[in-house]
Amino acid sequence: MNKLDSQLVTDALLAEGFELTGNPEEADVILFNTCSVRKHAEDRVFSNVGALKHLKRRRPEVVIGIIGCMAQRAAGEIKRRLPHVDIICGPQDLPALPRLITGHSGDSATVVATEGSEIWPERMRDTRISPASTFVSAMRGCNRFCSYCIVPYVRGRTRSRMLEDIVREAGELVAGGAREITLLGQDVNAYKDEKGRRLWDVLGELAGIEGLGRLWFVTSHPATVERQLFEMMAEHPVIAPYLHLPAQSGSNRVLEAMKRGYTRSRYLEIIKEARAIVPGIEIASDFIVGFPGETDRDFHMTVDLFWRAKFQNCFVFKYSPRPGARSAKMDDDVPVEKKKERNAILLSIQKEIMEERHKELEGAKFEVLVRGVSKRDASKLTGRTRTNRIVVFEGGESLAGRFVEVAVDSSTPLTLFGHIAGEPY
Ligand code: SAH
Ligand code: SF4
Repeated sequence: MNKLDSQLVTDALLAEGFELTGNPEEADVILFNTCSVRKHAEDRVFSNVGALKHLKRRRPEVVIGIIGCMAQRAAGEIKRRLPHVDIICGPQDLPALPRLITGHSGDSATVVATEGSEIWPERMRDTRISPASTFVSAMRGCNRFCSYCIVPYVRGRTRSRMLEDIVREAGELVAGGAREITLLGQDVNAYKDEKGRRLWDVLGELAGIEGLGRLWFVTSHPATVERQLFEMMAEHPVIAPYLHLPAQSGSNRVLEAMKRGYTRSRYLEIIKEARAIVPGIEIASDFIVGFPGETDRDFHMTVDLFWRAKFQNCFVFKYSPRPGARSAKMDDDVPVEKKKERNAILLSIQKEIMEERHKELEGAKFEVLVRGVSKRDASKLTGRTRTNRIVVFEGGESLAGRFVEVAVDSSTPLTLFGHIAGEPY
């Protein structure tokens, strides 16, 4: 979501005549798009923006802005700790940002925009030349209020866009060169537009766009996924058979305290149903370790869920109390060392599962959509399979945005390595 917001803001500023630069010394405006889901992310913003103090002293005309969730959550603290910041703009006020920037001289007073009153004209973006992989927002905000989570407070209540608007934007992006689209929502299965259309209706419409190679959607909440979603996925191969379905914990007691709205057995039932209906579907998940009151026994239930579910991939986070979220009132009683240990255990199990699975996949061929040059090795390309596995192989940069058949020769737990075995298309 933040990547999309950054892209929308960039497009809006380019339309105002700004240009992008990678060099802060050259910049007239420096923006930090921030996340407040965990404290660590916020700490990094304080230190990175703090480091610009000298630049701002030398060139007071530079406009420095902190935008996004942390701007919304911590405007007062930002003003106090980072007085050289000129603009503080929350995620729901981003449409006003170009106006705030052009109206700021650099040495005028700090502007704070956290009213949350602006309607997103999703058309802030220029769809004429689109990257091969791009995002489209289906809905903004979240109504679920999981007890640990800051998102509903900083991004506001759920607002679903009209199906027609999503389809029109996606069609323009594909006409402009996009081959894969990721549909976004914090609880994307809660999507419901004014005419009562649901996520599967949107996916079904998008699947009909000629030239669209692959369609993803994130994030699915276990309490809101429905059977019709899986049926739609099974019907349209262009919808990637990949479900990011964060479990957060394998303990019913912890799930209850997190206010997640499902049990471990319900979670396992959902992935069983998904696997029965959607051929080849893979499931990915998120977990939080060290939630207040999480005992060894609770953690053991999470480990057990890990082995049963066999995820394609997992993100594991150490619990971070967020002022404002309900769990911040609970005692953060799991010691840091314990959180680290549980984190490491889950990651090592996941590594073992992925290593074993990737060994099985050696020798197999996959349809890979090329994303571009590999960050680790500029002589190689990187792309994704239909189930979001990362594949690295040799090839020219001009293949970005094309499909290639790749035969897998070797693997690590995170990556498949192979060679192109067919003409690109
Ligand atoms: N809307 C998505 C993602 C929200 S944030 C969803 O519901 O799944 C992404 C992930 O960050 C969450 O899935 C959760 O695992 C993690 N997270 C959220 N709040 C957290 C907190 N206070 N401490 C640690 N991890 C957190
Ligand atoms: Fe946060 Fe829960 Fe909403 Fe996800 S569903 S954004 S974890 S409140």
